[in-house]
Amino acid sequence: MPGTLYIVSTPIGNLKDITLRALEVLKAVDFICAEDTRTTARLLNHYGIRSQLVSFYSHNQRHRIPGILQRLESGESAALVSEAGTPGISDPGYLLIRAAIERGIPVSPIPGPTAFVAAVVASGLPTHRIVFEGFLPKKKGRQKKLRQLAEETGTIVVYESPHRIVKTLEEIVNIFGNRYIVLARELTKVYEEFIRGPAAEVLEKVQQRNIKGEIVLVIAGADFQSESGNQVHEQ
Ligand code: SAM
Repeated sequence: MPGTLYIVSTPIGNLKDITLRALEVLKAVDFICAEDTRTTARLLNHYGIRSQLVSFYSHNQRHRIPGILQRLESGESAALVSEAGTPGISDPGYLLIRAAIERGIPVSPIPGPTAFVAAVVASGLPTHRIVFEGFLPKKKGRQKKLRQLAEETGTIVVYESPHRIVKTLEEIVNIFGNRYIVLARELTKVYEEFIRGPAAEVLEKVQQRNIKGEIVLVIAGADFQSESGNQVHEQ
């Protein structure tokens, strides 16, 4: 009988954001495939867990998959964790999960934090239809993608780095017009912050400061009407 591959969500900042089941599974498995072994070791130390860690990240994943599958097929169980949040969401995971399914290895999710869900629910924008784009292309196809997204009627969510945020906001103002947006920063951490308002005004705020940390941008869909859309709210 093969062992199970558990897909375990871990905190996106606050170490307390981990489920009881995630802790149980991390403790019980034979080994943990971790995108960043140092970050995961900190989490495991915090909770007194001593399971074996195996490095598994975007550049070694193809090379690591056969060995991991072999261990699972021999009956060992494994957890897959990313540096933060849910594995497979703008993080490695898909290839291993696909390969496990093809070999008949049971795959079981242990749900928990993911930055885009936390950002979109706190954005105050409609959540009945969400377009999660992950990271925008850096160069090729970027403008085309932004133009496509500008047509979307669902709430749009993108991951962004602090180094590119000004450029991205400038492009949003140019392509989307003065669309209502929410910049969610450092979610669940000490300096958690939301800047809400028309894109041009959020851009101005961001230009006045040196924005750091992790960012999710939530953009209103093309048909969104806001009653207070012309105000910037900071929190
Ligand atoms: N797997 C992760 C998840 O489930 O959300 C996403 C990993 S992706 C490599 C990292 C990006 O997620 C960051 O650049 C940022 O856009 C977003 N992110 C992760 N943690 C965040 C946080 N605490 N606050 C805001 N954004 C965050």
